[in-house]
Amino acid sequence: MMSLLLIVVALVAAAWLAMRRSPLWQWAVAALVIGFLSRIGWGQSPFAADLPGLIEVFLPGVILAVLAIPVARIAVISKPVYGAVKASLPKVSRTEQEALDAGTVGWDAELFSGKPDWSKLLDIRKAELSAEEQAFFDGPANTVCAMIDDWDIRHNRADMPESVWRYLKEQGFLGMLIAKEYGGLGFSAQAQSQIVSKIASRSIAAGITVMVPNSLGPGELLERYGTEAQKARYLRRLAKGDEIPCFALTGPHAGSDAAGMRDVGVVVEEMWEGKRTLGVRLSWDKRYITLAPVATLLGLAFHLHDPDNRLGKGENVGITLALVPADHKGVKIGRRHYPARSAFMNGPTQGKDVFIPMDFLIGGPDYAGQGWRMLMECLSTGRAISLPAIGSISIKQSLRVTSAYARIRRQFGLYVGMMEGVAEPIARMVKSAYAFEAARGLTAAMVDEGQRPSVLSGVLKYQTTEVMRARMNDAMDVHGGRAIQDGPSNYLFAGYMNTPVAITVEGANILTRTLITFAQGALRAHPYLYKEIEAAQNPDRRAGILAFDRAFAGHTAFMLRNIVGSFLHALTFGAFATAPADKGEMARWYRQLARYAQSFALVADWTVAFLGGQLKARQALSGRMADILSELYILSAALKRYEDEGRLAEDASVVEAIARDCIFQIETSFAAVFANFPNRALAGLMRFLVFPLGRHARPAADRVNFALAAAAEKPGAFRDRMTKGTYVSFDPGDPTGVLEDALVKVVAAEEIERKFIRALKQGIVERRLDRDAIEDAVTAGVITSAEAAVLRTADEATDRAIRVDDFAPDELIRILSQREPQAAE
Ligand SMILES: Cc1cc2nc3c(=O)[nH]c(=O)nc-3n(C[C@H](O)[C@H](O)[C@H](O)COP(=O)(O)OP(=O)(O)OC[C@H]3O[C@@H](n4cnc5c(N)ncnc54)[C@H](O)[C@@H]3O)c2cc1C
Repeated sequence: MMSLLLIVVALVAAAWLAMRRSPLWQWAVAALVIGFLSRIGWGQSPFAADLPGLIEVFLPGVILAVLAIPVARIAVISKPVYGAVKASLPKVSRTEQEALDAGTVGWDAELFSGKPDWSKLLDIRKAELSAEEQAFFDGPANTVCAMIDDWDIRHNRADMPESVWRYLKEQGFLGMLIAKEYGGLGFSAQAQSQIVSKIASRSIAAGITVMVPNSLGPGELLERYGTEAQKARYLRRLAKGDEIPCFALTGPHAGSDAAGMRDVGVVVEEMWEGKRTLGVRLSWDKRYITLAPVATLLGLAFHLHDPDNRLGKGENVGITLALVPADHKGVKIGRRHYPARSAFMNGPTQGKDVFIPMDFLIGGPDYAGQGWRMLMECLSTGRAISLPAIGSISIKQSLRVTSAYARIRRQFGLYVGMMEGVAEPIARMVKSAYAFEAARGLTAAMVDEGQRPSVLSGVLKYQTTEVMRARMNDAMDVHGGRAIQDGPSNYLFAGYMNTPVAITVEGANILTRTLITFAQGALRAHPYLYKEIEAAQNPDRRAGILAFDRAFAGHTAFMLRNIVGSFLHALTFGAFATAPADKGEMARWYRQLARYAQSFALVADWTVAFLGGQLKARQALSGRMADILSELYILSAALKRYEDEGRLAEDASVVEAIARDCIFQIETSFAAVFANFPNRALAGLMRFLVFPLGRHARPAADRVNFALAAAAEKPGAFRDRMTKGTYVSFDPGDPTGVLEDALVKVVAAEEIERKFIRALKQGIVERRLDRDAIEDAVTAGVITSAEAAVLRTADEATDRAIRVDDFAPDELIRILSQREPQAAE
């Protein structure tokens, strides 16, 4: 009995010390006290001269006490572990190191810590625009959307009309990120993201065209690294669209592995504008470059060599960036690719032995060799804004049109949206629309607070675009033939065709998910790992060992807390996990988030420790860990949005459904990690600590999902909120306006239609809803003439909205060949 009691006391004490991340000396004191108590409990004097007995009870405490002395701990533990870590460290290339060093960590570090500090999430500014930005969003952004005819862009011109280009340039759309002092709009990341989104909801090609100059490219690189002369020469012209920029990194042999490019510059002296000038003789072969065919200013990345060490940086200077005017002698530009049959400008560029003076290098010779770091730093913010903007708007736009279509499209005498099979995908769209708008807004807000979220931007990029692809498929399925028949009135097909573009650019998704997110996240956002690796790489061995010892001690305490926390939270179903105060009905989801963040911290830690240098190769595991991090982030964003928007009662069920789905996905991914973990004993132990009572999460119930779909199929505040930021027209002559118009009219006729359907069931009228049947219903006294007019208006609007295009054969040939048919053909 006494032994059992002592075991319980020891376990409780250990759990308590672990949860507090207590230092070693406290563990030593606790162990000695328990030894002391056990002697008393067994009726022995703690000080009796009984050496074997004393050793038995006091040895653990003595060992811990010795290890609490830094010199002893370093000699016995830290030094050997330091040696082992140093020997097993994978070689990190310079480009990998620069990618790791770029960007900042924030909420991702809280999730990796296993004990998120909620204030670090909830204190991030709301996703709002300034008055000036809002006026631009409601004014010029709306105007340009109204000017855009996507079919005309896609098929008649394979380009935007001159009037749209002009308007975009005049209004400063191409220089939203450039500071006001250089004539730009100086807008926030939030505004850029929302404006690009709105335009993309009208035309993906137009959205991408606006996105690129505001994303990773000459504007941002010049603002951050340009010399004063370069800023003065280019920024004003870029802001006003007098220069069209592009940035060329990718080449035929360098896609995902962009640093492996074969483009080379050699430092030489040549005659330039009448005098001998130091510069670079440059050759490049780039492809897939957005805006290149119409660019006037070409950003180029290349490896710089300096055989005579004229720059004093050695022979291999490293990746370097230059800005070359497109009309510079030797620059080949102008040919076009045809990406996913979309009309945005994209093409190759080449140059052979083109001489450029040193002042073409971005930042001048000082920044020669710094190109990769410059790109990675810009990428960490650019990737947080551009593709999440395109992805989230595509999800919202597909919900906007699909919810309307499902409500007006009738089959078997019912509107299809009320059928469970159709309500399911619409509910998925509602949840994705809310969650990804939340994540988009949150991440842009982080950027506006000065963060450069390299890990979370990767998470958001691959998740938003993957979910965009899935929801576009849902939208296509619900529309059936209406979205397959391409033509001027097809509002979905262009977006559907373009999903692979979003998947591939700014870090192809497979690579981003399986290689970058978790591995980089573990190194950057883990509280100790990076410090340990830095210490192990310290050329000063003594300083390295001391730094390693500090980090390793913290790491051990961190791991113990995660082991105990994960296990106890799992036993209590997260009931005692932390949640911010006063969160009402959402408190339980904050607690679930905290519970699974702790499990994530534990499993992440062991995965990295076990796989070590193998992490890059074990991509299936790393991808699943990235998925867990993603779900934690998306749930965080949804909870914050709910809070920031004032806990709208109407949205509570959406957030709850998102939370259920996220937790279910997290459990599923954990299970897959454990099932495939290469070390079976460790896998079993992790499964025991994370799921001691098995898995219990259930995704959102059908009943809840159907209610969400039904709510989205009605015009009103809920539908508008779920699809906020999309361009909306009510003009029946507009491709999407025709739907909105029909939806309003169909819903206005709802009550009358019910009377009609009742009469149909009673056999009073015989046919399904059509013009003749409406007359019959009036004649039979089922509805009045005024009601018949409302019903007829709805029927006519529906008829307009469900129509698809057809073409004369020669018209179709002209569209396909983009030219007039020739008589001989
Ligand atoms: C429409 C469009 C516009 C673009 N615009 C620009 C631009 O303006 N400027 C510019 O410089 N570039 C641009 N790009 C290039 C774009 O960034 C690249 O396409 C992208 O980096 C992927 O390279 P890749 O297409 O050669 O694919 P690859 O690198 O050949 O990759 C093939 C597949 O392998 C996967 N993969 C590769 N390596 C790994 C790995 N280590 N682990 C796991 N998976 C891996 C990838 O995820 C991908 O699924 C554009 C591309 C497109 C299609």
